[in-house]
Amino acid sequence: MIPVADAIQIVKNQTRGLESERVALSQALGRYLAEDIIADTDLPPFDRSQMDGYAVRAADIVNVPTKLKIVGESAAGRGWHNEMKTDEAVRIMTGAPVPIGADSVQQVELTRELDGGEAVEILEPVTLGRSIVKRGAEIKTGETVLRAGERINAGAVAVLASFGYAQVNVGRRPRVAILATGTELVAVDQKPGQDQIRDSNNFSIAAYALLGGATIQRMPLAGDDIAQLKQQIAGAAERADIIITSGGVSVGRYDFTKTVLKELGAEIFFERVALRPGKPAVFARLRNGALVFGLPGNPVSVSVTFNLFARAAILAMQGAAETELEAGTALLSHSIKPSKDRESYLPARLSISEQAQLLVEPLKWGGSSDFIGFVRATALIIVPSGTHKIDAGTLVKIVYLPQ
Ligand code: AMP
Ligand code: MG
Repeated sequence: MIPVADAIQIVKNQTRGLESERVALSQALGRYLAEDIIADTDLPPFDRSQMDGYAVRAADIVNVPTKLKIVGESAAGRGWHNEMKTDEAVRIMTGAPVPIGADSVQQVELTRELDGGEAVEILEPVTLGRSIVKRGAEIKTGETVLRAGERINAGAVAVLASFGYAQVNVGRRPRVAILATGTELVAVDQKPGQDQIRDSNNFSIAAYALLGGATIQRMPLAGDDIAQLKQQIAGAAERADIIITSGGVSVGRYDFTKTVLKELGAEIFFERVALRPGKPAVFARLRNGALVFGLPGNPVSVSVTFNLFARAAILAMQGAAETELEAGTALLSHSIKPSKDRESYLPARLSISEQAQLLVEPLKWGGSSDFIGFVRATALIIVPSGTHKIDAGTLVKIVYLPQ
């Protein structure tokens, strides 16, 4: 049995990044950058007005109201490119370039036009530089804006668009084949017969894998049958970068996943982790290079072991800089009595207290098969092995669950 941290390290060590590919910006959301993103222009590219109003010289407005002569108009995309002199004003719109000679913008609400648009009365003084964003204040040409390995979120899409990245290099999405094993399983559209249950793991694994950026290939359900499992895993390996199975990794008489992996000549990196839930998690590599995660069958164990181990590989293949679950600390809202022999990852829900503290509430759950209780989980509480009890109000380690 190896510690969780060692298992995660092994996954990282054994996972190679996939090649990068160029995708259209419209397809880039959620992908991982395979190149640094460099500003090809200053932003803003010119001194820009932040308000609709009048470009003025602050020093002209000593007493108010002050009357200034309107000498032109600067609109967004159509600036006024002469020099503004003292006691003059230029009508200006948000996003428009500030004319040479002007040093401030007074917002339109604090002005009044006179003489049929020939002049303007400035009703309030304006501080120097008011409502102007100077050229390059946000970023300068040549600066690195985003780095390879960062995830492209909606904000990053806007940045990429601003700097002309109509296409962008990203890590290829890993192809993940998903295989639920167990003679008791029937498909979601079937009514379970005697001793049967519907397969849910294929769906939760697919959902988590999609959240991690993978593409999915669903294999047909496999019974607890060596020949069938072998055929399915070997078949999946032909196209997949990662194969994720569920079920059949414990010590039961009909747990055949490890047997099959060994028969296929797989290199097994670990097969027992000091983790609750999820002790029998398996990590291996088939001869052709495909990684295999043999997750336990219990649905909550699946969620925990997927997110600790398989997710790290999915992200690492895409070149993600950060492959582990986001971690933090929170105040425990109710006391817990975890299992003592292994590190526990307990389903929990985060909330913010009225005192603005992050609280974590351990969810009542009936163990690793209780995925109904797990639905509300937004985090896992990490409890070191050997812990007997943790009192309410204690600061505990947590990881956020991808949602
Ligand atoms: P196993 O790891 O094969 O011993 O399975 C542990 C428990 O998880 C058993 O109660 C199984 O019926 C259940 N289980 C296994 N596979 C699935 C699945 N795909 N969907 C839902 N439950 C499952
Ligand atoms: Mg089973």
